[in-house]
Amino acid sequence: MFIDQAKIRVIAGNGGHGVVSFRREKYVPKGGPDGGDGGKGGDVIVQANSHLHTLLDFRYKRIFKAPSGRHGQGAKKTGRSGKNIVIKVPCGTLIKDAVTGEILADLIDDKQQVVVAKGGKGGRGNWHFATPTKKAPRFAEEGKKGETREIVLELKLIADVGLVGLPNAGKSTLLSRLSTAHPKIADYPFTTLTPNLGIVKFKEQHSYVLADIPGLIEGAHQGKGLGLNFLRHIERTRVLAFLIEIISDNIFDTFEVLRNELGKYNSRLLTRPAILILTKVDLADENDLKKLDQLKNFTIPVHKISAVTGEGVGELNEKFWDLLIEQNKQ
Ligand code: GDP
Ligand code: MG
Repeated sequence: MFIDQAKIRVIAGNGGHGVVSFRREKYVPKGGPDGGDGGKGGDVIVQANSHLHTLLDFRYKRIFKAPSGRHGQGAKKTGRSGKNIVIKVPCGTLIKDAVTGEILADLIDDKQQVVVAKGGKGGRGNWHFATPTKKAPRFAEEGKKGETREIVLELKLIADVGLVGLPNAGKSTLLSRLSTAHPKIADYPFTTLTPNLGIVKFKEQHSYVLADIPGLIEGAHQGKGLGLNFLRHIERTRVLAFLIEIISDNIFDTFEVLRNELGKYNSRLLTRPAILILTKVDLADENDLKKLDQLKNFTIPVHKISAVTGEGVGELNEKFWDLLIEQNKQ
């Protein structure tokens, strides 16, 4: 199955330096050493967050740097520590060291976290180094450098192809026809409450995962019907297949409704490779078949099938495969 992946550089803060300083008081010409310690550098932490679902944001920001600790000051004042920074990722993200391949963490639960780059320790100020024979040390420790590393974030997608359509469009039937899964089929809305996944074979040696995703209705982006839960699943697929009955009187409108719902939730969904599938072609009369001509120059490829007779299903399998290959190149 395809994996959503991102490589980022994480840079922890350096420790602040310890300082050399001596007490200065009135009437005490030679005060003792009082150089404070440097503050610790900030850590870089990766934390799972259940509200996130993709790693797409990491295409735009790839470097994460935590601030350094401040240097120490006189009067044994410790410098302020650099703040930790927290990078949020979807639950289910695997984190690996990009160089060694070592798995650093598998963040499954909300708020679960791991330190991926440790901030440097602050250096000690000169007063730490005073001894009976060396009462006025003129040196202090430098802060340690923060860790830097390249890490790979990996998120498993739920499926390669997601079937999107109004209730009754024929999603579950198509899934059962194409794959080895046997989803519940019924002619009333919302039979499918959670996405059903099926493995589809392509030419013996290949396979991909198809998801029958619960019915989309207008207002889903506002939480209507199965709402946001449904849209969350859609986000984690590579190719979108819009299913609309060919016998429908308003294919264009329905398509717009479906796209609108997806777009309002996350406009990036609209740039994903897609195909329009006109279903139930076995029920189509002449007028319905004419609709295909009107869709000749449609914005995305159009394909007709009957999951009952099997018409067009084999070709659809090939088209899905082509779209997946194309998407993989992007
Ligand atoms: P979903 O809500 O999109 O999952 O739709 P289903 O797959 O449950 O199908 C809804 C109804 O349409 C069921 O009664 C199916 O038997 C019927 N159906 C699905 N595909 C076809 C088809 O290609 N031809 C015909 N005649 N009926 C179909
Ligand atoms: Mg269904």
